[in-house]
Amino acid sequence: MFFDFHTHVFPDKIAKMAIENLKNMAAKGVGREDAMTSHTDGTLEGLKRSMERGGIDLSLVLPVCTRPEQFETVNRYASEINGKDGIYSFGGIHPDCEDIEGKLDYIKSLGLKGVKLHPAYQHCFIDDERNLKIAEHCMKIGLYVLFHAGYDVAFPDTEYCPPDRFEKAFSHLFEKYNEEAHPHVILAHLGGIMSLDKTLDHLCGLPIYMDTANTLEQIPTNMLMKVIRSHGADRILFASDSPWQSQRRCRERLASLPISKAEFEMITYGNAKKILGI
Ligand SMILES: [Zn+2]
Repeated sequence: MFFDFHTHVFPDKIAKMAIENLKNMAAKGVGREDAMTSHTDGTLEGLKRSMERGGIDLSLVLPVCTRPEQFETVNRYASEINGKDGIYSFGGIHPDCEDIEGKLDYIKSLGLKGVKLHPAYQHCFIDDERNLKIAEHCMKIGLYVLFHAGYDVAFPDTEYCPPDRFEKAFSHLFEKYNEEAHPHVILAHLGGIMSLDKTLDHLCGLPIYMDTANTLEQIPTNMLMKVIRSHGADRILFASDSPWQSQRRCRERLASLPISKAEFEMITYGNAKKILGI
């Protein structure tokens, strides 16, 4: 079984525009027209077709509120699609939302198991008080919080969530909430696609999960294995970053890694199922 822990879809009406906008931002960021390629049309049906083609059984959708006003619509859509036809969804929140704690409680009451934050698209550094407040309340109420981490193609000059700043800002929260026993923080992209050496130095061994979105096809096997082995397969989540990567190719790549059957099962679905309580 394969559970893809990091995918994106948009409501039908805006999917085409959203994909174009994100491609344009990436192209502007790195000055290359083909900076990002979309492997689906960005819709929910498009993701389901990709899963069918790619041999993916379950996918988690990660919505991002790029403005505080999007809170209602983003979470309404997330709860509509959550738990149906092999699709699960986290909720979204913006660091500038009012009544952060009430809003996180609301996300939990919708039955969503976590929330996605994107420090770059939300222009909010990982050690900003606003992000820390969100993370702390999530730990308190048992909601998972997933951060985009490291390099982002649309903002190549500024890293909003670099490994060292994350480690420094979060250590006291990990102790305070005994995260070692049950981690609630998830860092995408193995902590940062362009800085896996810093992942090894600052993130491996912390009480966090890390997902493999946007790393499987880009990173050499020996580096992937170093991160997996030094962090532990029980805290690594298979993820593609669809539509920006091909789910099929990511599955094939993961299946080609020299890992044990037990590690394979944890990474491909065991850890994800534990987080989602399914
Ligand atoms: Zn993503």
